[in-house]
Amino acid sequence: MKMICSQCQTALKPYKNGVTVIETEGTPPKPCRIFEADMWACPVCDIKIVTGFGQPIARSYETTWGRDLKAALSNSMVIYGHQEPVELSVGDLEIDGPRLIRVAQ
Ligand SMILES: [Zn+2]
Repeated sequence: MKMICSQCQTALKPYKNGVTVIETEGTPPKPCRIFEADMWACPVCDIKIVTGFGQPIARSYETTWGRDLKAALSNSMVIYGHQEPVELSVGDLEIDGPRLIRVAQ
């Protein structure tokens, strides 16, 4: 797969294979599916994109979801994939590194 940076028109380079992606839905964002994907970067702009998704490795309605989500959150690189733009208010879930936390007052 060839990818070109739209900013500087340089070919993107593989940056990290096996990135864990936790897809969310709704507002506040709620984890719903987990994927493995690959991260590519522009060597000039340092813009990074995540692509190369396969089938989900876990879904929130599956009986093993709690265990699978905990395992995903322990990975070294976790990216969230929000289906909706995230606007947070007090009490909502917020991203803190690889974790979702409650927004404090
Ligand atoms: Zn670029």
